[in-house]
Order: sequence, then C-alpha cells, then structure tokens
Amino acid sequence: MRDLSRRNLLKATAAVGAGAVVIPGVVAGSTPGIAADGSGSSIGARFPSAKLTGRIVRPSDPGYGKASLGWDELFVRYPLVIVFAQETQDVVNALTWARQNDVALRVRSGRHSLEGWSNVDNGIVIDVSELKSTHIDTASRTARVGAGLNQLEAVTALGKYDLAVTTGTEGSVGLSGATLGGGLGFLTRYLGMACDNLIGAEIVVASGADGAKAIEVDPWNHSDLLWALRGAGNGNFGIVTALTYKVAPLKSVAYLQATWEGLDDLYGVFDTWQRTAPFADHRLGSQLEIHKSQILLFGVLAEGSEAEARELLGPILSIGNPEVTVQTGGWGDTYAGFQIPTEDEPANWKFFSQFTSEPFPRRAISLIRAFMENAPSDDSNFFTQAFGTGAQTQEPFGGAAFPHRDALFYSEPGAGWGTRGEPDSGDAVTPIAQTWIAEFSQALRPYVNGAYVNVPNIGMAEWETAYWRSNFRRLRKIKAKYDPHNVFQYEQSIPPATL
Ligand SMILES: Cc1cc2nc3c(=O)[nH]c(=O)nc-3n(C[C@H](O)[C@H](O)[C@H](O)COP(=O)(O)OP(=O)(O)OC[C@H]3O[C@@H](n4cnc5c(N)ncnc54)[C@H](O)[C@@H]3O)c2cc1C
Repeated sequence: MRDLSRRNLLKATAAVGAGAVVIPGVVAGSTPGIAADGSGSSIGARFPSAKLTGRIVRPSDPGYGKASLGWDELFVRYPLVIVFAQETQDVVNALTWARQNDVALRVRSGRHSLEGWSNVDNGIVIDVSELKSTHIDTASRTARVGAGLNQLEAVTALGKYDLAVTTGTEGSVGLSGATLGGGLGFLTRYLGMACDNLIGAEIVVASGADGAKAIEVDPWNHSDLLWALRGAGNGNFGIVTALTYKVAPLKSVAYLQATWEGLDDLYGVFDTWQRTAPFADHRLGSQLEIHKSQILLFGVLAEGSEAEARELLGPILSIGNPEVTVQTGGWGDTYAGFQIPTEDEPANWKFFSQFTSEPFPRRAISLIRAFMENAPSDDSNFFTQAFGTGAQTQEPFGGAAFPHRDALFYSEPGAGWGTRGEPDSGDAVTPIAQTWIAEFSQALRPYVNGAYVNVPNIGMAEWETAYWRSNFRRLRKIKAKYDPHNVFQYEQSIPPATL
C-alpha cells in the first residue's frame, strides 16, 4: 500500500483546523422544505438559482495548480472550479449549482484517489477537506468529525483521549475516502473495518430536479444509506460532510518491525505469515512489504507488550535472521512516528488490489519473488494485510456493504516512480510500471477472489462483484432511491437500478 520502510525516519505533525480564507459569495436561498426522506418523491421539484459559496479557486487564480493536484501525480486534471467548503451549506450550494448549470462534478477529501477520480476536467470539484470539526464524547465513546480530517489528524485527536478507530496506515489519506470504501489497517482485526465503526453521517444528496439537501443518516434514519456508505460511499450517493464513529479505548500498542535482507527467505516468511498471522490473537494487526531485495514485516499489538508481540510473531521471526525492533507507546504517537511526508514519496503510483481466502501456494509466492526482482523502481512493493479470524468477520449493527468478511488477507502489487514537483520526470518509467502491474496482477489471478474499491482496478471485468459481491444489486436500488438522476457518476460509479 505504501512504502513503510522509511517510516521510522520521520515524524509528521498534525495540522488540525488550519485556517482557510473564505472568498465571499452570495449564499443561495435556503433549500425548499421538500420531502426529507430521500425517496425521490419530489423528483421533479425545482430549486431557486444557486451561487457558489465557500473558498473558491478558478483556473485564473494563482493557487489553482496546487489546489487541483492530487496525491498521485499520474493524473492531472483541469477543473473549471474548485469549491473548498467551509460549512455544509457551501456543499449544498455547490451541488445545486452544478446541477442547475449541467456541470460535471466530483467529490474530494484527502485527494488520494488512486485513479484520479476525485477530480474532473472542465467540471466542479466539491472539496470537503477544510471541514475539520472534531467532537469527541468520552462518556458515550463516540466521535463526530468533519469530513475533511485526514487519518493522521483523526488518530492524533482520538489518541489524546486514549481512544481509537480503525484507519489505514498513511496519515495523509482522507478519513472520509478511506472509511467510505471500507478502511483497512493495523486495527482491522481488533476493531473491524473503519466503515464498521461508522454509526452516522451527514450527507448532502441530490434533491428534486435540480437541487440538493443535507440529511442525517444513522441506524434508524436512512439506515439503507448508512449500510451503503459502509463500503460503497465514495462519490456514489452524495457528499458526506460529517462522520460519526463508535470509538474504542486504546491506551498503548507494541509496534514491531522486522527486516530480512534479500528475498531468499521469502517462501518461509510469506508462508508462515499467511498461516499464522490471520489466526493470531485479534489484537494483532500485521503487514508484509516485499521489496526488490528486502522483506519487511510490521506488527501492531493493541494493548500488548514487547514480549507478547515477539511471541505472537515468533514463528515468522524464527525464519532466517531478521533484524527486529519493537517500541511500545500510545497509538497516536506510534502512528505519527511511522509517517513519511508526501514530498518524500514518488510522484506517480499504480496499484492493483486483491483479496484472498486461501493461502497462496508455493507457485504464487515464487511469482511474487520473480516480479519483485524485476520491479520497475526501488519504491515498488508487494503489500499484504492480515485479515482472518479478527473483528472484521462480524458485520456491524445494521450491516455494511463491504463484503470481504472471509478474506485471509488483502494484498496488492504497487509501483511508485517519478519525482514530485518535476512534471514528466517519470514518463520513461510509466509504460514499464503499468505493464509490470498488469502482468503481475494477471499472474496472481488464479489465487485471488475479490478487489478493494478503495484501490480501484481500472479496466477490470466485473469490478462490480469483485468490489461488492451480491451487495451490488442492493446498492443499485439504494442508488435509485437517493440519486435517481445519477448525478454522482464517474468511471466505476454505481448505476441506479432501473425499475
Ligand atoms: C499512499 C496510500 C496509502 C493507502 N493506504 C491505505 C490503507 O492502509 N488502508 C486502506 O483502507 N486504504 C488505503 N489507501 C486507499 C485509500 O483508502 C483510498 O485511496 C481513499 O479513497 C482515499 O480517500 P481520500 O479522501 O484521500 O481521497 P479522494 O481522492 O479525496 O477521494 C477518494 C474517493 O472518495 C470520494 N470521496 C472523498 N470524500 C468524500 C466524501 N466526503 N463524500 C463522498 N465521497 C467522497 C471521492 O469522490 C473519490 O471517489 C491508500 C491510498 C494511498 C494513496
């Protein structure tokens, strides 16, 4: 998923609540009081003409290039306008304006879409990244946060109260984007998927013939939409402006890193990992990262000691002669400690996601070795995350669209290349990296049986069932209910069911 090998070098700092300049705009008239059930009953209602509000960036503005560029610089788009919402009404206005002016729209939070789908040429980007509110209720163990927090900001804010929720490993990824597609990370086996901990949301949906409105979803109100947001919510049903999580106490973790030089121990390490880590104590989350000439193992043991971490991972650590380090501390500090500043990462990335329910046979592990030895760059890796018998096997109350409950592990080949801030610096490698990913993922097809919507596989046949299995049918019905005009659409968006 990302190159963890350099993580221990640098500490990142959270930037919660960075002030934003608001360019004054005319606030659109309040939305008419039409049916608030999202049922499409007022499907033909027309809204007063809307104006854009919030912090607005257009192509002629000096900050336009920076405001538009996503994390993966492989995809460069030129939107007509970017609206950085400062409050929910800015989102309502932007969506209404886009509909009334027939302008293509995309929703954006942390900008880490791996196919550049949170931006669009000649359209409007509705960006929620400046919605940074945080309300943590330690008594009820719930947190209500603005949709603009990134994962590091969320982990840091909760960590101050010894609380946690599952997130992915990269701090700069948007909490919204990660959660709405599932959200897997070191705490998945302990607390479930990030989306399993989502118990409510404020979401701006299309309304009537050309308008928009904000609605609250929770297990009792619009529970079908909450189900859909738990694993299929990215840019499909509306614009999430706030998320409510059930959060769990987490005082400290033991964080273990092991490094094997060369790939000679790969079979032993991989096979032992896939046969032990997914079945270990549910407090243990672990990842393997296989590079051109190194194998890395990372483990996080929630509320555990160094000795316990070493013991639980002992079967893997007994292979060959790895260099092992363990540190214990608060989850917030540990998480911040393994972040890498974005500017130190390659500019261009390509991944291919896959879930697996049976252990890889020797042949598959040999393929990984062969492909990694010929990786297109030093930043390329094969990443895995243990699933197995953990908390993610249980759906939350009300269910979730995320279907991969029986996975043994998640994995992905990933290539990173090119230099940030130097456009075209990776051009020579681009076709090599793309071919490598295509051939690598094709070679592993006999051993995998699902894909992860947060790491979309472009061009994949039957992506609908690879991401959501049979849940796709229900998702189409929910789409027809909340977005009958298919306002929210992109390359792999969910089409509304036809009646
Ligand atoms: C370096 C890296 C590491 C990663 N590591 C992990 C990991 O450890 N675990 C994991 O589970 N995933 C991981 N991912 C995948 C990540 O979860 C997805 O890329 C995620 O969708 C990014 O969300 P974002 O908000 O940053 O991106 P954006 O580009 O802003 O959005 C991504 C998608 O979500 C939609 N979206 C964003 N915000 C909203 C909103 N508020 N309402 C509705 N739709 C919205 C966008 O329209 C787009 O389709 C990683 C990705 C990268 C690039």
